[in-house]
Formats: sequence, C-alpha cells, structure tokens
Amino acid sequence: MKVTQHIKEAKETLFSFEILPPLKGKSIQSIFDGIDPMMEFKPKFVNVTYHREEYIYKERENGLLEKIAIRKRPGTVGICAAIMNKYDVDAVPHLICGGFSKEETENALIDLQFLGIDNVLALRGDSIKTESVFRPDPNGHQYAVELIRQITDMNEGHYMLDDVDLEPTNFCIGAAGYPEKHFEAMNLSTDLHYLKAKVEAGAEYITTQMFFDNQKFYDFVDACRAMDINVPIIPGLKPIKSLNHISFLPKFFHIDLPEALSKELMKCKDNKSVEQVGIEWGIQQSKELKEYGVPCIHYYTMSNSSQVKSIAKEIF
Ligand code: FAD
Repeated sequence: MKVTQHIKEAKETLFSFEILPPLKGKSIQSIFDGIDPMMEFKPKFVNVTYHREEYIYKERENGLLEKIAIRKRPGTVGICAAIMNKYDVDAVPHLICGGFSKEETENALIDLQFLGIDNVLALRGDSIKTESVFRPDPNGHQYAVELIRQITDMNEGHYMLDDVDLEPTNFCIGAAGYPEKHFEAMNLSTDLHYLKAKVEAGAEYITTQMFFDNQKFYDFVDACRAMDINVPIIPGLKPIKSLNHISFLPKFFHIDLPEALSKELMKCKDNKSVEQVGIEWGIQQSKELKEYGVPCIHYYTMSNSSQVKSIAKEIF
C-alpha cells in the first residue's frame, strides 16, 4: 500500500523508521535483528537507504594503480522485498540519481514493480566520497526532480524502452525536504522553490532531514504551505547517540543543535550519558510533534534500533 494511503487511513500519528543495508558480507539476519524490536509499535512502512559506489585504488603488478568501484552496502531492493515478505509491512526503497543512467533507473523501477513495491523515496544522492561536487552519470539525472519526472512518466505508461508493451507503474513518490535548508541551496527560499518543483513533478509527500529544534520544522511547514506545497510532510528524527555525534551530525548533515540540547550534551562525560540525553530529547521532540498533529514520525536508526525503541515506547 502507498505511504499516502497509510496516512489517509491513519487515526493518529504513524510510526516509521529507516534502516541501512548491512555492510557487504553480513547476512539479512542483521536487518531482521534491527527490525524485530520495532514491530510492537506497528510501523506501516520501513525505509531502506541506497548507497552508491565508492572508488578504491589497487596497485597492479606493473605498479600502475587501478580504479575499482565497490559498493559497501548493496542490496536495497532485495532487502525491501524480504522485509515485505517477512513482516507484512510496506517497504520504501530509496532511489538515487547518482551512479544511475536513465535506463538503469527504469530497470530498477521495473524490478520494484515486479516485486509489488508501491513506494519510492526519490533522491539525488550525495557526491561520492572522493569528489567534492555531485556528478551525475553522463546519461543520468542531475537533480531529484528529473528522477521524479521519470517515475511519473512511468506511472503514466511512458517508458524509455518501448520495444514491448508495459503496464503503467503505480508508485507513490516521496521527496526529501530540509527544514534547515539543503547545504548547497543559496537560501531557504530557493530550496523551497525546487522542493515545489519536485511536488509539481509528482512527489506526493515529503520526508525531512533530521532536525533537533521543532520550531524549525514548524517554520518549514508554514513556509511550504505559504508556497502552496500542500502534500503531507513527515518529520525525520535522529536520537543523538555518542560524543562523536556532537560534532559529526552538524558537520555531516548541516544542521544545528539547539542551545538547550547543547547545554545538556556539554555535561556528558561518556557515550552512555549522551545516549540517555538523546532518548530524552527524542521523547520530548516526538511528544510535541504528535501534539502538533504530524501524520507520521520517521526515525533514522542508522543501524541502531535500541534508542528508537526507547522513544517509541513512550510515544506509540
Ligand atoms: P535535490 O532535490 O536534487 O536538491 C539538491 C540541491 O539542488 C538543493 O540544494 C536544491 O535546492 C538544488 N536544486 C534542486 N533542483 C534544482 C534545479 N532544478 N536547479 C538548480 N538547483 C536545484 N542519500 C543517499 O545517497 N542515499 C539515501 O538513501 C538517502 N536518503 C535520504 C533520505 C532523506 C529523508 C533525506 C532528507 C536525505 C537522504 N539522502 C540520501 C541524502 C540526499 O541524497 C542528499 O541530501 C542530497 O545532497 C540531496 O538530495 P535531494 O533529493 O534533496 O536533491
């Protein structure tokens, strides 16, 4: 079932979460071990991230270096199918522009349709680690809006490969939004302009980047509505977990930690105390968002479900 349908039918705020495919070589059991403890909170859908290739250099016998593409976390599509099969919940695969030609995107979407997957979160993806700017595949998409247009075209029965008759797909498309603006955007206003273009191209709901200050989310929703972006907006929350996160999260995700939270974190001497602050902050944020009436709260587990479980216990 589509995410938007779940939202329409819900009587109260829904619970959902995001998982990462395990590192190559690990079994699917590690995914199930992360999902099992969450099932008591009845998630309607589970997102599975997509990780593009990275490049490593291997020295050949003649001394020259060979550039090799590796993918450390493959398996998004298969994991989605396995989740739907085992838990009878919907899976939302993330699909990115980076590393995909348009033909490969089309093939990936045909695979998803065969597997009965109704949802896709359409993203641009970040640049690969060894490059400072995002570079699309020569025959791929530069921005998420183009990927969304391709999916919408397929939903209308327009494929690139027209050698056989293909049924229109029926994907519910989600897009990313940034309450504190995307780091490359000139300002929030241009970012919202492009967000609106994603909705006009066919995105039916928005899932946000993590934030720690609910006021930023409320302002973002108000700004969207003022621009006639009227689709459901799902807040994304990440419980802060370690001393390392205190600098990593702002640096990597381009978000601020509010003063009240930073004051609490400055008192922490070890990861355990940070973890506890993260849970308490997550509970408070979730309570307020629920009261505000968000359709769903989406938690980023980053391969660790124990904190999200502690929060969900108090909220759902
Ligand atoms: P876009 O919407 O294309 O925007 C990128 C930038 O370009 C923005 O600054 C925007 O303002 C600007 N822009 C957009 N359209 C245009 C245009 N037509 N002309 C000029 N400028 C434009 N990354 C992964 O690799 N894998 C994942 O699984 C993943 N999951 C995510 C889930 C969520 C909920 C979120 C919020 C992010 C996720 N990301 C993931 C990260 C995401 O891919 C990056 O933040 C990426 O840099 C931007 O993706 P986007 O889809 O928002 O891009």
